[in-house]
Amino acid sequence: MSPLAFEDEKINCPYCQTVSGFDFPFYSRSYYHCPSCDLIFNAREKNSASSVSYYRDHYFDDYAEDQTSGQRTDLYRHILHLLEGYQKPGSLLDAGCGCGFFLKEAKESGWKVAGVDTSRKSIAFATTLVGDGTFFDSLDDVPANSHFDVITMINVLDHMTDAFRQLQKAKDLLSPGGVLYLRFPSGSFHSFFVRLALMLPSKQCMNRFLVFHEYAFTPWAITRILDEMGFVDVKVFNSYITGGNFSSAKLLRSLMGTSCRLLEKLSGGRWLWGPSLEVIVFKEAEVCKY
Ligand SMILES: [Zn+2]
Repeated sequence: MSPLAFEDEKINCPYCQTVSGFDFPFYSRSYYHCPSCDLIFNAREKNSASSVSYYRDHYFDDYAEDQTSGQRTDLYRHILHLLEGYQKPGSLLDAGCGCGFFLKEAKESGWKVAGVDTSRKSIAFATTLVGDGTFFDSLDDVPANSHFDVITMINVLDHMTDAFRQLQKAKDLLSPGGVLYLRFPSGSFHSFFVRLALMLPSKQCMNRFLVFHEYAFTPWAITRILDEMGFVDVKVFNSYITGGNFSSAKLLRSLMGTSCRLLEKLSGGRWLWGPSLEVIVFKEAEVCKY
C-alpha cells in the first residue's frame, strides 16, 4: 500500500473487520474510520517488526527528553493518586515504562514495580533510575505465571500495531480484580480538530497540537473494545492535561482543562472533549463457588 492511500479505497477495520472509509490525512499518513466500532486507524499495513525496531533502537534518542525534563511528574503523581483510590500499593507493571520516572514515583509510594519497554536505552536508564525494579523487553517476555495488581499503559496503546493483542496480554497478567489503567490522546478531540484544520488555509498551526499514531481511540471505541475483551466496569474520563500537550500556552491549557471538566460534569460523564483520555477498568474478580 502506498503511504497515502486513495480516498475512495475501503479497508477492513483492524478490530471488528467492518469495511471502513477514508477519514482524513495527517502529514503523510491516511486515517480511516470504522462506522461500526468508531475506531480511527492509520491505514498503512501494520508491520510490527519495523515498528518494534524503531522503538527499540531510535525512540530514546528522539523522545527521551520529554521524559527526562520532569514535565510529567505531576501527571505521574495524579495517576498514582487515582490508582490508590482503587488499590492499595501492591504489584504494578508499567507497559511502555520508558525511562522509568513513573515507576520511580510508584516505588516511592510503596508499590513493588516492574516495567516493560522495547527501547534498550530506556530500559538501561530505568534500571539505574528505579534500582530494584524488574524489567522486560515486551509483555510477551513477562512470565505467564506473574500477576500484577495494577498494569499501566501511559501514552502507549495508540502506538502499538498489535494493540488488541497487547490488551489481551495485559488482561492475562492481571490478578483477578486487578486494575488496568490507560492514557492516550482522545480520538474524538484530535479527529475533530484535524477535520477543522483541513478547512483552514494553513493547517500547520493546528496540526502541531494534534497527535495521531497507529490508532485514535474515541471513548465509545475503547469502551466497546474493553467490554468485548471481558474487562468489567469501564470508566473513561478526561485526563489531566500535561505541559507536554500545550507547553507554550499555560492559560489555554488551564481554560481548556476547566471547560472540559465542566462539560464532563454537566453531561454526567458523556461529553469527553479533553485532548487526552484516561481509562480505569478491572479484570473480573474470581467468584467463590462454595
Ligand atoms: Zn471496527
